[in-house]
Amino acid sequence: MSEARIIDGKAVAESVRDEISARSAALLQSSGIRPGLAVVLVGEDPASQVYVRNKDRTAEACGFHSVKHTLAADTPETDVLALVEQLNNDPAIHGILVQLPLPRHIDESKVLRLIKPEKDVDGFHPVNVGLLTAGERSAALVPCTPAGSLVLLKRTLGQDLSGMNAVVIGRSNIVGKPMASLLLQESCTVTIAHSRTRDLPAVVRTADIVVAAVGRPEMVRGDWIKPGATVIDVGINRLPAPELGEGKSRLVGDVAFKEAVQHAGAITPVPGGVGPMTIAMLMVNTLTAARRQLNLPEEA
Ligand code: NDP
Repeated sequence: MSEARIIDGKAVAESVRDEISARSAALLQSSGIRPGLAVVLVGEDPASQVYVRNKDRTAEACGFHSVKHTLAADTPETDVLALVEQLNNDPAIHGILVQLPLPRHIDESKVLRLIKPEKDVDGFHPVNVGLLTAGERSAALVPCTPAGSLVLLKRTLGQDLSGMNAVVIGRSNIVGKPMASLLLQESCTVTIAHSRTRDLPAVVRTADIVVAAVGRPEMVRGDWIKPGATVIDVGINRLPAPELGEGKSRLVGDVAFKEAVQHAGAITPVPGGVGPMTIAMLMVNTLTAARRQLNLPEEA
């Protein structure tokens, strides 16, 4: 069997960002308003610092008004809540993202629930979760990683996914559950697998679409993949790579790529697959949030 087509998430993300830049420029010209994104980082987690820097840079590249708030790791919870409240009331800010994880002394759900649902560009507020689950996607802000994964699926398989068997491995609130909701709305037959699932390989073998969001390096083996299936690998795992030099590491997904590429019809690589889509979809959500707050019609 021929090797799978590699889904180039970097290229798709670039085209999404280009489109958002153009739409943001058009908004500025017609209304004088730039979409505003505020990112809040508490503490010095190095991975979070990299993500926040990338989000800030991408927002600026899209022509957004971008604000970064960096707070010390020991900032009291009340100060974080006060900052969110201030951003909720700032008309120049249309999207608020609080970078997770937060330090232990801060109640994550308390902070996330305080963000106004219409400014919740991560899509984690219960109102947005509820709208998505109720099938009202057009009124919700959808979490960025699943939304980006769906864009990749549609660019690969076409707009109509109805009737396909989709297996989502992982049931987190950030990836697995919203991914399953999105696929259900596309009229896929959706199975959600998790750590208690029996005979996971057999479950995965039924799938036309596999979305792996587990956080276990190369757990999904090639012979689990039905020939021709489309595989979206959300996992990002860092493994030591002494062959690259002392102290070096490399990124791998949740799927054993070299094996799966022999079975799948199409597959996302790690890195360069879902990862770049997440930030691109944050830009989409920020522009969407801005247009809704300005009472402008949705764009196609
Ligand atoms: P979580 O740890 O929150 O969830 C992992 C899920 O995998 C859980 O539902 C868990 O099941 C399930 N699981 C764990 N072990 C097994 C197993 N042996 N068999 C089947 N299921 C299992 O992770 P996230 O959803 O936050 O992230 C998943 C991966 O995606 C990570 O690698 C993360 O780094 C990556 N990620 C990538 C992003 C991107 O931009 N590309 C963004 C966000 C995440 P149970 O519920 O039963 O414990």
